[in-house]
Amino acid sequence: MGRLTGRVALVTGAGRGIGAATAKRLAEEGARLTLADLDVEGCQRVAAEITALGSEATAVRCDVSQSDDAQQAVATAIETFGQLDILVNNAGVLRDNLLFKMTDDDWDTVLNVHLKGAFLCARAAQKHMVERKYGRIVNLSSTSALGNRGQANYSAAKAGMQGFTHTLAIELGPFGITTNAVAPGFIDTDMTRATAQRLGLSPEQFQAGMAQMIPLRRVGQPSEVASVIAFLVSDDASYVNGQIIYVAGGPAGVLM
Ligand code: NAP
Repeated sequence: MGRLTGRVALVTGAGRGIGAATAKRLAEEGARLTLADLDVEGCQRVAAEITALGSEATAVRCDVSQSDDAQQAVATAIETFGQLDILVNNAGVLRDNLLFKMTDDDWDTVLNVHLKGAFLCARAAQKHMVERKYGRIVNLSSTSALGNRGQANYSAAKAGMQGFTHTLAIELGPFGITTNAVAPGFIDTDMTRATAQRLGLSPEQFQAGMAQMIPLRRVGQPSEVASVIAFLVSDDASYVNGQIIYVAGGPAGVLM
């Protein structure tokens, strides 16, 4: 028996990175999973790994910024496993640019995937969770919520995610649903590797430079975010609601 035995989870952006690590960690703890991503093949690979772990997972193609797709992902989880207990709003993209170069599309894409996507998935999931008087929602914020050069769009979305989290905690708490956020710092995924490439650095060079500014003197791994999410969706966190947990190797947003 794991901490999440009998639970059913939907993880968005589960085809790779933090989403894939989270899906696998929740499966290891006993949950059955629906994996939603633009990249359905990535989700199918992760689903196969979860099946090999002895749990169950299904993959669904989903653009979280589209209302129909978000509703379909939630419906797939419920049709496949009969219920939905856990939603992890993880899907994300970067379109970094200094403000004077940031296009309307850079802004809209990032706000739509992170913030509107979380709204659409949470709205679709809450109906079922409210009826069952149980739910766990975890949103992915970021240390960039506190401001980061070249990320006006992303920092606005991730700060918005924190206000969204606080509000869901207040609105859904009376129905036995907790809503929390994790705010990672620098995590070694394709997202940060792409940033290194954009800056003309190897991932190793970029990570070494960043590590010097992180109190633990190293970057984080996806599994180190997944383990905090696993805690927040478990009954070990039954009285934790509306919190933002920084997973950043140091205090929130403080690089020293
Ligand atoms: P990642 O490796 O780039 O993975 C993101 C996943 O989201 C990809 O599989 C991507 O699919 C998917 N995705 C993108 N747009 C989507 C959409 N519209 N609908 C559904 N899925 C979509 O990123 P990551 O580093 O694991 O980041 C995961 C989350 O953590 C994000 O919310 C990110 O902002 C947050 N975060 C990451 C870090 C970090 O240092 N890595 C730090 C703080 C916060 P495609 O492959 O098709 O693009």
